[in-house]
Amino acid sequence: MAGNLLEVRNLKKYYSVKSGFLNKDCRSVKAVDGINLSVKQGEILGIVGESGCGKSTLGRSILRLIEPTSGEVIFEGTNICGLKKEEMRLKRREMQIVFQDPGASLNPRLTVGEIIGEPLEVFHICEGKEKEERIYKLMDLVGINRAYINRFPHEFSGGQRQRLGIARALAVNPKLIICDEPVSALDVSVRSQVLNLLKDLHKERNLTYIFISHDLSVVEYLCDKVAVMYLGRIMEYAGKRELYGKPLHPYTKALLSAIPVPDIHAKRDEVILQGELPSPLNPPTGCLFSTRCPMATDQCRQSRPELTEITGDDGTKRSVACFLYQ
Ligand code: ADP
Ligand code: MG
Repeated sequence: MAGNLLEVRNLKKYYSVKSGFLNKDCRSVKAVDGINLSVKQGEILGIVGESGCGKSTLGRSILRLIEPTSGEVIFEGTNICGLKKEEMRLKRREMQIVFQDPGASLNPRLTVGEIIGEPLEVFHICEGKEKEERIYKLMDLVGINRAYINRFPHEFSGGQRQRLGIARALAVNPKLIICDEPVSALDVSVRSQVLNLLKDLHKERNLTYIFISHDLSVVEYLCDKVAVMYLGRIMEYAGKRELYGKPLHPYTKALLSAIPVPDIHAKRDEVILQGELPSPLNPPTGCLFSTRCPMATDQCRQSRPELTEITGDDGTKRSVACFLYQ
């Protein structure tokens, strides 16, 4: 489709995992199993789902930080999965990532100036006085006092470290930023500050985000559209208003009913999430959600519904992988 900054086509990442007696069984975990997505320039796409459903694997496969098993990632019209190592390295300037754990993702031996300056050097963007000025500007942008330029990551709080991670990602002027649970490791008190920073930066710099989170309220705050993942697949893919206003997939309904509602009289189609996430080594044969779904029928247990586009009464389109809507 025209106008997409990024298109992901049938992306898969399978891991082979040894198990059983003396590790003799070799089975595959379909961490990402045939994902299709598209993101327009300036859009924010949310990816939600319980821990272990493949969100990080998807984010990293898109950037080829881990090599996808198959599929295509089309960035500005180029399938980056076909790029050679050096071409890919240069492409990374356009596509950056902000990780969940700001402590672990920053080199503890480098100062703030070195951390933010490193990508500027790696990509030969600027040096000397110009580099210093750019580092200061980035510090201003994310709200870190210029006086801290020679400090080390451990001297900062979690929220400040995440600001550093954001400054480092922004240093090379990327077009796309994948934010992988960027506030999940932070204290509740600083979460909204970092979210607001991301929101402001998105607007000021005309950025495009893929925002990964297990927290549906965070995604609602930030995103334009949302993909709900379960065991490596998309269950529902819809605009924010449609998804939160009228969730269709029983899994989306279950995730939404788990968010506390301030108004106790607010009525919601409640689906309580029963049981545990099945082992990805041994996923259900039919619909992946069928073992926990209150609506599941024999059909659901036997065959797997494809993600299918449907049109609502109001003309809005979305995709759902559920036999209830086919
Ligand atoms: P999420 O980010 O949604 O919590 P992940 O993408 O981290 O999920 O993991 C998805 C699935 O892939 C999980 O079942 C996880 O155990 C598995 N997985 C992730 N990385 C590896 C790996 N390197 N080797 C084997 N399995 C992995
Ligand atoms: Mg993750």
